[in-house]
Parts: sequence; C-alpha cells; structure tokens
Amino acid sequence: MKNYNFERKASDLLALLGNPFRIQIILTIGEGEACVCHLETALNKRQAYISQHLMALRDGGILETRREGKYIFYRLSNPKVFELIRAAGLLAGVQEKDLPMLQIPLQVNKCVCPHCEGEIPMFEKKLHSVVPENE
Ligand SMILES: [Zn+2]
Repeated sequence: MKNYNFERKASDLLALLGNPFRIQIILTIGEGEACVCHLETALNKRQAYISQHLMALRDGGILETRREGKYIFYRLSNPKVFELIRAAGLLAGVQEKDLPMLQIPLQVNKCVCPHCEGEIPMFEKKLHSVVPENE
C-alpha cells in the first residue's frame, strides 16, 4: 500500500495547487511573507476570499504563519513548491524566459501593511534563499 500512499499524497498536493488564484498567492508571497491585508491590496480580491485560500494552503502545509502583533504573516513552508510551479509551467509549454522568478513581495501603493508602511523593511522578510547562503 506504500505506492498508493505516495500517489494519494502527490495527488492531494497537486490538487491543492490546482487553482490559478492559489498559484497567484504563492507567487505574490514569493520568498518573503505577506499578511492578508497586503494580498487584498496586491491582488484586488475580497479578504474573505483570500483567507479561504490561505487557510487551505496552510492546512495543506504549503504555507506557514508567523504572528507579529495583530498581523499574521504567511510565507512558503518550503521554497520547493515554487520549483514545482515552475516545472508545471514548463510542462504546460511556457518558455523558460517567461517563468516567474522567486522574489520578495513588491510594495503596493495604498497598502497599509507593516511591510509597505516601512515598519518592517521589505528585505528583512527574505526568509528563504534559492541559492545556499555562505557561512
Ligand atoms: Zn503591503
């Protein structure tokens, strides 16, 4: 039953990612972190709609959270999920040069989250690195 278990797990993970908006959320968070209010401004969707997807991604282990004051910041649990999304893009016929890059979230005009307001500098939330860091 080991194989079945693998198939089940892989299938569950792919199903979790099988939604363009969830992929958009993951790309927006990138290698940084974002609170729901940032995503609301950046993606121009209702908070309840975003929260529902964030919850699913967190329950599925794709995202993890960090609380700071009244804010909950979401970040990728494992940057490998980003590689999986890029691989899916390649298999779907997207050219390498058109694939998204892993980047920290962009500052958004009119966003009042602590990162956009400068309370926490953008670069400090770079939590994962694609290139292994030197000692
Ligand atoms: Zn923001």
